[in-house]
Amino acid sequence: MVARHDRTTDPVLLEGLLQARRGTAFFARKLNELPDAELDGDSLLPGWTRRHVTAHIGYNARAIARLIEWAATGVETPMYASTSVRDHEINFGATLPPIALRHLFDHSAVHLNVEWRDLPAEAWHHKVKTAQGRIVPAEETVWMRTREVWVHAVDLDNGATFTDIPTPVLARLLKDITGAWHTRGTDTGLLIRVTDQPGAMVFGDTNAETPLVVSGPLAAITQWATGRGTHGVTATSTDLPEVPPAPKWI
Ligand code: ZN
Repeated sequence: MVARHDRTTDPVLLEGLLQARRGTAFFARKLNELPDAELDGDSLLPGWTRRHVTAHIGYNARAIARLIEWAATGVETPMYASTSVRDHEINFGATLPPIALRHLFDHSAVHLNVEWRDLPAEAWHHKVKTAQGRIVPAEETVWMRTREVWVHAVDLDNGATFTDIPTPVLARLLKDITGAWHTRGTDTGLLIRVTDQPGAMVFGDTNAETPLVVSGPLAAITQWATGRGTHGVTATSTDLPEVPPAPKWI
């Protein structure tokens, strides 16, 4: 018998699933606000129309669902056969008639949700491989999807902003991004300070003697960190009057 509710009872995972589902609903709302003709418009991502963003989100759900099937069955199924297959799929998806594109988003989201819902509690710990080659427990797919739906809803560029993204999602995203910079050593001399949260949130090169300090509210800092502009962010430095672009994230 198929469960009508999540089979995991882990409160942290259930909270994560809630953020992913809220994000999916948010993306759906922004997509539904766009008339068919406006799907042809530019997104915030260079070279991508809103069609590309929507196709990417649809195929991303299918790719993550493949990881959940892997976790459930033990049969290895990668997210994508290759990067070029992934890119080709997105370019193809972007050419679909609007109704088909909308169905791709809707059906893939429902399918992923069913895969998540029916995954046995212990299988959430089974290891799978991300498109970047990281080995992670199936639990991680919830965050992978959460990040995609919230950020790409902003990329649709029809009114969503980083201030619409829940604080815990922004905080984790910023931690991920600054962690990636740190691993690569691309944050040398750069200190990031979040100014609107109750606890101190400082990231980057905390050992630098005279760092370039980039500061601002969590939403603005996270937007900047993802490479989406410097709005709401300020930089203090002796020789840099402008906020520099953030180091590369992906
Ligand atoms: Zn993406």
